[in-house]
Amino acid sequence: MIVLINGRIVGDEYTGCALCGDNRRTGTYLSIDGTLRCKMCGKPWIGFYQEVAGIKLYFCCGDHYKEFRKIIERIITISGKSRIKVISISINGGERTIRIESENSKEISINEPMFNLTKT
Ligand SMILES: [Zn+2]
Ligand SMILES: [Zn+2]
Repeated sequence: MIVLINGRIVGDEYTGCALCGDNRRTGTYLSIDGTLRCKMCGKPWIGFYQEVAGIKLYFCCGDHYKEFRKIIERIITISGKSRIKVISISINGGERTIRIESENSKEISINEPMFNLTKT
C-alpha cells in the first residue's frame, strides 16, 4: 500500500505523517517551555510508527493515527475486502478528497471536511 498526499509519497519519518505529511521538522514548533510540540494538537512531539492494514506507517500524533485508521476502516467497508494498492489524499483548503485504487482496480472516492483537532 502506498500513501500519497497531493501526489507526494508519505508515511515514514522523512516523508512525514501518513495523514498530514508533516515530519519532525515541518510538523512542530518550539514552545515557550522549550518542548518541541506537535502543530496539529499542541502535545509534545512524539512521531511514531504504527501498523495499519498490514504496513508500518508514520504518524505525527495519536489523533492522526486514529483518524487515519477510521478512514481505512471506512474504505474497507465500502470496497469489500480487496487489498488497497494506493491511497491518494488531496488536501484542498478545508476539504480532503481520498481516492483509493484497490487490487481489483476498483476506484473509490471519499470527500469530507477536515477536522480541526487543535483546541482553541
Ligand atoms: Zn499528521
Ligand atoms: Zn499532534
